[in-house]
Amino acid sequence: MTPQNILLIPKIERGIVIDHIPAGLGIRVMALIGRWPELEDAVVTLGLNYKSTRMGRKDMIKLQAGPLPPRLLQMLALVCAGVTIKRIDRFEVVEKVVVQVPELFDNLARCINPNCITNAEPHVATRFRRIESGSRYFKCAHCERVCSLDELAGHLKA
Ligand SMILES: [Zn+2]
Repeated sequence: MTPQNILLIPKIERGIVIDHIPAGLGIRVMALIGRWPELEDAVVTLGLNYKSTRMGRKDMIKLQAGPLPPRLLQMLALVCAGVTIKRIDRFEVVEKVVVQVPELFDNLARCINPNCITNAEPHVATRFRRIESGSRYFKCAHCERVCSLDELAGHLKA
């Protein structure tokens, strides 16, 4: 075993690995996971600051739980697009998905425009559409304010 192998967090027999989380965001992702009562009893391992050839440093989370709720996946796309979700069965990776930035975010984040109708009337669902393919900017469907991915990630809905 090389020293790097020894540092890896233990393999799980069955569950989900969220890999390639940008270093520093692991705690934030843990907080998001904590919003889901059905994941409350899951055994979770949080690894911070692993060496990564691709990213320099990365965080990683292993959950002994079933598939992640779709809304959690959408929030991950907002907060840390590019993470890899691996499904593990019998210690093997049986499915691997890279979380992409979608074209549309439905009711996931609040608008950064304080005068937007969605802030005055919280029951009005928010919708942000990507301004063009590959962009990290989104336009509010209500007030047309353009928000960056980071701004939306900072305004997640409860
Ligand atoms: Zn708006």
